[in-house]
Formats: sequence, structure tokens, C-alpha cells
Amino acid sequence: MADKVSQNIDNYIIMFRDIYEPVQNLENSFHQILAKLVESLTPCAQLITKNKIEDIKIRIPVIFAWFIALVNKSIIKEISFNEIVWSKYPYICPYCLSGENTNNSVCICNGMTKVKLRENLEKIKNFSIENAKLKPKTLKDWQTLFGNVYPKKFSESEIKAIVLHIYEEIGETSEAYRLKYYNKAYLFNELSDIFTWIIALANAFEDECGYDLQASVRSKYQDKCHICKLKPCKCTKLIKEPRLTSEDWNSHDDIENWSTYQELALKFHKKKI
Ligand SMILES: [Zn+2]
Ligand SMILES: [Zn+2]
Repeated sequence: MADKVSQNIDNYIIMFRDIYEPVQNLENSFHQILAKLVESLTPCAQLITKNKIEDIKIRIPVIFAWFIALVNKSIIKEISFNEIVWSKYPYICPYCLSGENTNNSVCICNGMTKVKLRENLEKIKNFSIENAKLKPKTLKDWQTLFGNVYPKKFSESEIKAIVLHIYEEIGETSEAYRLKYYNKAYLFNELSDIFTWIIALANAFEDECGYDLQASVRSKYQDKCHICKLKPCKCTKLIKEPRLTSEDWNSHDDIENWSTYQELALKFHKKKI
């Protein structure tokens, strides 16, 4: 059984950095990792359209791993992501300010409040000091915190909504990255929100089957790459291998066909002009 320190979110960040940075992710840009995070979510959308929502839980550790890869591209080593998330979610909902040491122990706004985060910043900061003893030490603690502040019941429509929220936050993170030279806090804010919704997805399954994100991530990655079983990962196929479509896009013929498509598109384009 791993200790509490190794289950801290910052240590997951270091673990994934040690496994995947040296050979795989170091030369990939923020945008390439962002594309891989979107790709990791696509099977969830496919499972929703096929009405196999229960199978989404198998995907959660992979989504989490690519999210952590994105965090690794976004923050400098000295910054604690655990502190970043805590500074927005100090055991309260940052919008309706419900949670520990408040009048309402659970969120009453359900994300529908018109209050701007900016207006609550001072109060959120005070809660982060007042609730300091409750600060999560492990990934499991975060699952408990969000489960307490935002209690959700397992339902198919809830799972669909959570997957959509993750897509939404990834879109907002893309915007925040574009604007990062003007407002660095925006990027940290959006990364915290992606994390929150990934935890919400885990919690939605927890009701049904006792889903433990920490245990699932540990059993899949076990401090090494889940495919080549090495640390650092030495896989050579990760970037080349298509996994989302049944088409084989690897053969040489496809490259020739692709050129043909491009020629046809060019002809069509010229004709239109
Ligand atoms: Zn709320
Ligand atoms: Zn590998």
C-alpha cells in the first residue's frame, strides 16, 4: 500500500513526468498534448452514442494521465498543483460559497450561479486559510472533498453532462493558453476545473460501484508505462498508432490516396473560383 505522500496529486505529476517526459512528451508541444487529451476523451463520446455508458469508467485513468501530461506542460516545476486547486476549491464551491464552515454544507448553485469568481476571490482566500486542516493530501481526499461539496448520483444523464463539462473545460483551457501572456491565473483556473470534472466523473461511478480513481490509476500505471512496462517509457508507437477509428491510416496507399484527395479538392476549389 503506497503512503499518503506518493498519493499526492503533485507526486502523480512527478510520476507521469518521470515515465513519459524523457522519451515521449518532452518534444511534444502543449498543443500536441492538448490534442491527445481530446483524443483520450473521444471513446467516452463513442460509448455514449453506443449506449455503453458503464464502460466509460475504464477510460478515466487514461484521461487522467493525459490531463496530468497537460499540467506538466503548463506549470513550472516549483508550483504545486495541489495548492492551485486548493486555492480555488478550499472545501467550498467557489461560486455559491457553500461547503465546510458555511451555512450550506453542499453546493446550492449547481454551477448555475451568475456570481463572477472574481467577486468571491477574497472570501475564497479566507476559506483556504480557515479550512487549511482539511486540505487534501491524496487523490482519494480530493474525490471525497468534491463528493461532499458536489454530491452526485449515478445516472446516465449525469455522466453525459459530466463528459460534456470536461470537453467544455478543455475548450476554456485552450483559450486560457492562448491568452496566457496576458493572464496566467486564467490557465491555472481552467486546469483546476478540468481536474474537478474528471473527479466528478470518478464520483459519478463511485455511487454505483465504489470507483476509486487513485486505485485505478495506480493499478494501470504502477510507476511505469502501461504498455512497455518501462520507466521512462520506450514505446515508439504511441504517436503513430491510430486507435479511434477502424480505418487503417498507416499504409503507404493511404498517403497516395490522400494526395489524390488533395488534388481533387484543389481542382474543385479552382472550379469554384
Ligand atoms: Zn455552488
Ligand atoms: Zn511505453
